[in-house]
Amino acid sequence: MKFLITGEKKPENEYDLVIIGGGPAGCTAGLYAGRFRIKTLIIANDFGGLINDAEVVDNYPGIPDVKGSELGKKFLEHAKKYGIETYLDEVIDIKKENKFFKIITTKNEIKAKAIILATGEKHRKLGVPGEKELTGKGVSYCAICDAPLFKGKEVAIVGGGNASFTEAQILAKHAKKVYLIHRRNWFRADPIEVERVKKIENIEIKTPYVIKEIKGNDKVEYLVLKKTREGNGKVVETDETKKLKVDGLFIAVGLIPKSELAKKIGVKLNEKGYVIVDDYMKTNVEGVFAAGDLTDKASKFRQIVLAAAQGAIAAYSAFEFLKRLD
Ligand code: NAP
Repeated sequence: MKFLITGEKKPENEYDLVIIGGGPAGCTAGLYAGRFRIKTLIIANDFGGLINDAEVVDNYPGIPDVKGSELGKKFLEHAKKYGIETYLDEVIDIKKENKFFKIITTKNEIKAKAIILATGEKHRKLGVPGEKELTGKGVSYCAICDAPLFKGKEVAIVGGGNASFTEAQILAKHAKKVYLIHRRNWFRADPIEVERVKKIENIEIKTPYVIKEIKGNDKVEYLVLKKTREGNGKVVETDETKKLKVDGLFIAVGLIPKSELAKKIGVKLNEKGYVIVDDYMKTNVEGVFAAGDLTDKASKFRQIVLAAAQGAIAAYSAFEFLKRLD
C-alpha cells in the first residue's frame, strides 16, 4: 500500500481505496482515509445525498440550524482538505479481477484494492395509478425543491414519518393549504415534529386514509382516498372512498436502500435489502466495507451523525485491511 502525500500526482485509473457515495458517510470515510494517507477517490453522482433535500438540519452536533445542502458541502470540503480526490459520475458495475476491484462508471474504469460502499437510499414509490404519469406534473418527492411551485395552492403530503412532518412544515410556508395524509392514527415521526405540525393553521392532518389513485389529465387534479382501520397492527382498507381536490402531491413514504452494486459483488443483504455489516463495517466480501443508510445498522435509526460515525469506522477498517495487503 502506498500512502498519499498531499500534492502527489496520482494515477488516474488506480487507487488503494474507492468510496462510492458522497453523502455524510462517504465524505466522512474520505476525510478519515485522507488522514490515514490512503490514496483515495470518492465517486458520487450527487455529493451531499439526501441531506440536500433537508431545509434545516438541527440535530448534527456542533452545527445547529444548518441548511442540509450547506452541511453536505462542508462534509465534502472537509474531506478534500486531506487530499483525497473526488469524481462526479455514476458507478454502473463492480467486478473482482485478481487482487483488484474494477469499478465501471458511465465514463471510466477505475481499479481499487478496497471499496467502501456508501450509496445510501432512495425514495420509495407509493405504487398507485397516476404516480408515474404525473411525476413532475404535480407529483413530487422533494418538498424543498418543489414547494415554491405551489404558492397559494392546495397540496397533500403522504406518510407518517419524520420526512412527511418536516416537509409539511416547508410546504405550509408556500401553499394555501396542506393535507397530511397517513394510513394510521399514530405516527412514526418524532413527537416534537408532530407537535410543530399540529400548531400550524394551514395544515390539516387526514387519518386514517390511503391514497388509491392520483387523478388528472396533464396535472394533478384530485386524489382518490380510502379510509382504513388498524387490525392486529395491520392497515385494513374499509369501503369508504372520498375525493380530495389538490394541485399537488408530495410522496414521503420512506426510503429503500441503493444496494444494487453491493449485490453485484456478492455482498450479503438482509431481507429488506440493506447491506449486512459487522461492528467494523466489514461486509462478507473481503476488502468491501459499507457505511451509512445503506447498512442494516442504520436502517432503524437513520441519522447523519450515525452515517458519519460509520464512515469513520469503515475508513479505519479499510486502512487496517490495506496495511496487511503489502
Ligand atoms: P419512515 O420513518 O420509514 O416513514 C415512512 C412512512 O410512510 C410511515 O409512516 C409509513 O407508514 C408510510 N408508508 C410507507 N409505505 C406506504 C404506502 N405504500 N402507503 C402509505 N404510507 C406508507 O420514512 P421517512 O419519514 O422517509 O424517514 C426516513 C428516515 O429518515 C427515518 O429514520 C427518519 O427518522 C429519518 N429522518 C429524520 C429527520 C429528522 O431527524 N429530523 C427528518 C427526515 C427523516 P406506517 O407508519 O404505516 O409504516
